[in-house]
Amino acid sequence: MAGWNTDVWQTKLQPRALALAAVLLCAPMLALAQTETESVYQRILNIRDLSRFVPEQALTQLQALQTEAVNETPATRAELLNQLSIANMRLGQFDAAMTAAEQLIAFGRSQRNDAMLAKGLLAKSYVLFEKAEVNSSYQLAFEAEKIAMKTTDLPLRSQVQITAGQAYAEQGDFPAALSKLQQALDSARLAKEDPVMLFGALSALVQLYTQMKEMEKANSAMQELLTVTEQLHSPGRMASAKITEYGLAVDQQQYKRALQAQQQALELVRKLGAERMVGISLGNLADVYLKLRDYPRAAQYAQESLRSTQKTRDLAMESTARANLGQAYMGMGRLREGKQQFEQAMTRYEKENNKPELRAVMREYGEALERAGDYAGAVVAYHRERTLSDELFETRRQQAVQELQEKYATEKKQRQIELLSRDNQLKDTELDNKRLQQRVWWLLALVTALGAIVVGMLYRRVRHANAQLEVKNLELKAQSVRDPLTALYNRRHFQDFMRSMPQHEPREDDLVGALFLLDVDHFKHINDSYGHAAGDAVLKMLAEHLRVALRETDMIVRWGGEEFLAYLPAVSRHGIDDVARRILRSISEQTVVYQEHVLSVRVSLGYAPYPLAPGGTQLPWERVVNLVDMALYLAKAHGRHRAYGLRGFANFEHTTLEAIEQDLERAWRAGFVDLSVVLGDTPDAIPPAPSEVDNVVHIKHAHKNSHGT
Ligand code: GH3
Ligand code: MG
Ligand code: MG
Repeated sequence: MAGWNTDVWQTKLQPRALALAAVLLCAPMLALAQTETESVYQRILNIRDLSRFVPEQALTQLQALQTEAVNETPATRAELLNQLSIANMRLGQFDAAMTAAEQLIAFGRSQRNDAMLAKGLLAKSYVLFEKAEVNSSYQLAFEAEKIAMKTTDLPLRSQVQITAGQAYAEQGDFPAALSKLQQALDSARLAKEDPVMLFGALSALVQLYTQMKEMEKANSAMQELLTVTEQLHSPGRMASAKITEYGLAVDQQQYKRALQAQQQALELVRKLGAERMVGISLGNLADVYLKLRDYPRAAQYAQESLRSTQKTRDLAMESTARANLGQAYMGMGRLREGKQQFEQAMTRYEKENNKPELRAVMREYGEALERAGDYAGAVVAYHRERTLSDELFETRRQQAVQELQEKYATEKKQRQIELLSRDNQLKDTELDNKRLQQRVWWLLALVTALGAIVVGMLYRRVRHANAQLEVKNLELKAQSVRDPLTALYNRRHFQDFMRSMPQHEPREDDLVGALFLLDVDHFKHINDSYGHAAGDAVLKMLAEHLRVALRETDMIVRWGGEEFLAYLPAVSRHGIDDVARRILRSISEQTVVYQEHVLSVRVSLGYAPYPLAPGGTQLPWERVVNLVDMALYLAKAHGRHRAYGLRGFANFEHTTLEAIEQDLERAWRAGFVDLSVVLGDTPDAIPPAPSEVDNVVHIKHAHKNSHGT
């Protein structure tokens, strides 16, 4: 196998760079002798070196310490878990390794100890890397670094930085890797208590510089690494450093240096009894001799390697040894044997479906066949190699395409989700707006409805108030036109009525209007004898009977205290006296029961037709009423309970109305006035006029002498 990247050491360990770091940092201090007086912690530290080369022994010793460690300090117990995880990992017992790592993580958390937690995470990271779960491994390594950097533990800080640097290098990010490893180197230089850290940082740097083809820097780092390793007095460390130097030398095609370094390493690992390392070292030596085209030596080392790997059951390394052996045989012209070894190696890789290894071996096989002059075989091998290469490429291409597609699909989905969510947001906003609008409309409707209700209520109240007002107005109006005691029209209403009544000419036909004025006889007596209330009762009775006696169309008015006026708009000219008589009789027939008293009253009346036009001139109603009042006064004077009515005037040119008004009796006696006299049934003590006939007396001026008092 050719070159730094394909040689046995690198093929075997390059993908295990993290694990290598873990191993490197598990400082193999085999130089220290194990004594009974050593603390448990120190014994654990000693075992960690053993673990690198003979993990079986290391694990047995660690397990033996487990019971003892129960009573130890948390730091000791943590370190024991750490070493248990690493030893198990070395032995390929990943479940046990993982369990120990998880226990360390949990322990670190329960102790709230960041250093323990970081170590636990690192241990887990190494196990994951061994299980080829590289991405999870890197993630944990970076997480461990973050937590470790919170502590003041310099060796730990250096360790996590080395691991992080190697993780970056694995990912191909060389600038980040370099920066981390330089930081690790700085930390390691300060961590004097554990010089192993400086060893680890320098080893990692040499490998990184080699990968970066920075050979000058790689060489100077290598120089420092060797110096530092010398001071460690550790055969294990020295073996590691020499193997590192071997890799660097091969890459620079310094095969002599490579051989020298690898032979020194072989010597050391043999002394240590690290059989696996012996097998690898022998393989590396075979590889250098193949490069030097020293086929017999190459074959010798390859055979030794094969034996060693068969002993340790290192199947992968065994295949490498066979490929090397095959190449050596073919170089020596032992074509058949060579082909046989190659075929065995390839069968093994095919069984493992390890296409990259298969391809590399196939290429070497083709080259070996070509060198041996088997061109037909070389072409076949070449074609197989090409097919494999194409398959690998196709697989990688397909993987890449699939990854791209997945990424694209994920992004597309993400975009769709974003679009959808944006769409949803828009719809939500729209919906919210609609809801808001609807709410506004509802509110408006509500406000309108409430407004309508309020307005309606107000309107009803106003209407009610108006109605009440109207009632009140009507009542008021009624009160203003009515007399409260008798409910008859009052005097003011009559005045308004007469004023508003059109002046009508005295009618020539039989129907005339008439005015009656009535006054209760000796009313004071009622009041005085039975009290004012009795008087009121009598007045009420009077009003009622006047209504009965008169027509609906007649206007009855309470003219004063116990005086009533009646206006009859249409009455037969010859029936006026009958009306007077009817009133007289009707009232006198009535009785009022007031308390235990039975009261009856009689009235006197004055009356006249209306309109009245003495001498052809129509008199205003006031003057007619005045004349009627004069007639009433005369009736009172002549004995009460009687009615005196003006019938007409005579010789009006010889007198004046004023003269008549001043003294009606004289005017009557002088013959200027014609009066009707209607007597009540039982007149007062004062006797009626002497010439009364029937009970209606037409007193004419011709009889005036007979009229006396
Ligand atoms: P006459 O008319 O027969 O000469 O005698 P009279 O007792 O009726 O005398 P006059 O007409 O002068 O007296 C009227 C009395 O009527 C005076 C007053 O006390 C009484 N009067 C007036 N208005 C009312 C009223 O509304 N109720 C009552 N109870 N008495 C009234
Ligand atoms: Mg009176
Ligand atoms: Mg009176």
